[in-house]
Amino acid sequence: MEFIFLCSRVNVLILLLTLCSPYKFIQSPMDFGPLNLLQTTYESSRDFGRIVFNTPAAVLRPQSKTDISLLLSSLSTSSLSRVTVSARGAGHSIHGQAQAVDGIVVEMESLPLEMEIHRREGENEISFMDVSSGALWIEVLKESLKFGMAPRSWTDYLHLTVGGTLSNAGISGQTFKFGPQISNVLQLEVVTGQGEFVTCSRTENSELFYSVLGGLGQFGIITKARIILQKAPEKVKWIRAFYDDFDTFTKDQELLVSMPDSVDYVEGFKVLNEQSLHSSSVGFPGNIGFVPDFGTKEKPKVYFCIEFAVHDYQLEHINVDEVVRDISRQMSYMQVQFYSVEVSYFDFLDRVSMEEISLRRKGLWDVHHPWLNMFVPKSGIVEFKELLMEYISPDDFMGLILIYPLLRDKWDGNMSAVLPEVGSTDRVMYVVGVLQSASPDTCNHLCLHNLLQHQRSFAQTACDRIGAKQYLGHQPSMLHWREHFSRKWDRFARRKSRFDPNYILGPGQGIFTNPQ
Ligand code: FAD
Repeated sequence: MEFIFLCSRVNVLILLLTLCSPYKFIQSPMDFGPLNLLQTTYESSRDFGRIVFNTPAAVLRPQSKTDISLLLSSLSTSSLSRVTVSARGAGHSIHGQAQAVDGIVVEMESLPLEMEIHRREGENEISFMDVSSGALWIEVLKESLKFGMAPRSWTDYLHLTVGGTLSNAGISGQTFKFGPQISNVLQLEVVTGQGEFVTCSRTENSELFYSVLGGLGQFGIITKARIILQKAPEKVKWIRAFYDDFDTFTKDQELLVSMPDSVDYVEGFKVLNEQSLHSSSVGFPGNIGFVPDFGTKEKPKVYFCIEFAVHDYQLEHINVDEVVRDISRQMSYMQVQFYSVEVSYFDFLDRVSMEEISLRRKGLWDVHHPWLNMFVPKSGIVEFKELLMEYISPDDFMGLILIYPLLRDKWDGNMSAVLPEVGSTDRVMYVVGVLQSASPDTCNHLCLHNLLQHQRSFAQTACDRIGAKQYLGHQPSMLHWREHFSRKWDRFARRKSRFDPNYILGPGQGIFTNPQ
């Protein structure tokens, strides 16, 4: 294990740990290539959002779960329990959630990669993969495909770690069918805030299992997960259909999610301007001949696109084109604006990589990302759309606005993830992702500050008026977190004092403050 020592504040801790553990410390930049040290501190002080930059006191690169357990047990039993610890996956958070100002960042990608497939052929048996939590989903996909298998539930982007997405929820176009990624886990291995190593599942140490899933890194560090697998299709029929009316768009989305036996993936996005049409189509390998009239600045016209997919297992008795035709006959998209392509399952799941490559080429990947994701009750989706029109100006919006339905009964209320309480009897709710980019070349500090202020007031209005809840969000204070968790707050706080009683873990979320 490497422990990179960066600041005098943890000097005592390091001495303490040196005495009682077999850690190998690198005590000065001279023991370590300066370049490497620089990269390490730089990486762990930032994330995809490029909004928050907190420098930790030290970075731990664990070589085993024992390293993590030793760190946490040493901290929680010493007078240094005020030192906080954050697990960092791929650092694709937006608001510094995996950072630890003056604390210790544990880089989970350093854990040796372990992926073990257990294929089960029996009718009632479930195949699964045991995977180390620092693995990226793209690695999980590549490994499982070697066995003709794949996880059932995904995120759009696959360069995220297993531990990182399981700490949130992990959603994509398959969520309506199988639930979020947290609903597709059989077992976890976790190191609690006290350094205790625990295996947990729905039947064994279940309280920890439910706490950690969607738990924002507050209760323990996940070191391994057991993920459900299914047979992977050979190919995917990938369809895009356009709408000029929001009600018809959502009605068709709801129709699609009511057909889980034939539809395998449903998403959708708002087409605000030329840029949003082109940027969202980078990964779509078909030619889209849609040339919409976007109206004028005074009277803009917007469109919507449904994206859905049907898996093709290349079974002779199933004609996938016929399945798609049957589905499309029931839909009400704009005449002719229906496009379909066939791609490999891998390319379909890895589609955002194409966008990443394109954005990197244009220098638009390493920019500010003031993203906002919200779960919106079905009863409030029309009002949310109206609010969004006031919040976003089609003229200068750079990015993507995702809108797609999820089904509440695919989520487990025992887990920590938070859904809207309003409209809880509606089976459908929506996720809306306002995935905005702002280049530092055109948006300075003040501009970013204003964007974030504007976003905060929009999100607050959506919460107060519609009962929407933020996903992957950051709240400005504990009071706001209480409001966010609402009825789930007491349980969340109780679980925190049980599994991380010294409040060591997850400082970057800003939910609890270390009371020491
Ligand atoms: P980090 O950002 O490194 O960490 C996130 C949080 O999890 C932190 O609080 C951290 O402390 C904690 N954590 C990390 N690892 C562990 C662990 N092993 N044990 C305990 N806690 C841990 N999300 C979706 O749901 N669906 C999407 O389609 C989707 N698309 C995305 C596309 C892009 C381009 C980006 C940048 C993000 C996207 N996300 C999506 C959001 C993503 O799921 C979250 O940001 C997730 O946290 C990223 O994982 P990570 O490995 O980078 O985690």
